[in-house]
Amino acid sequence: MFSGFIREIDEMGRIVIPKQFRKELGLLDPHSRLEIFSDGKQIICRKAVAVCIFCKAENELQEFEGKYICRSCLEKLKTK
Ligand SMILES: [Zn+2]
Repeated sequence: MFSGFIREIDEMGRIVIPKQFRKELGLLDPHSRLEIFSDGKQIICRKAVAVCIFCKAENELQEFEGKYICRSCLEKLKTK
């Protein structure tokens, strides 16, 4: 059963994500980022969150040139 919205894709391949969904996910900032992927049958979007490039942790991250590393991995690197 379909329970979402139908949106038209424009000539540039863009769609408008309903404000209700953006509000629910905290994506009202125009520069909010989405992670988009496909399983070949459907396109799935979710709020992009920063993760450690090594262990995928989401907490205690430090940013370096657009990449993130967690405190634990950073400590491991320092001891090598
Ligand atoms: Zn890590």
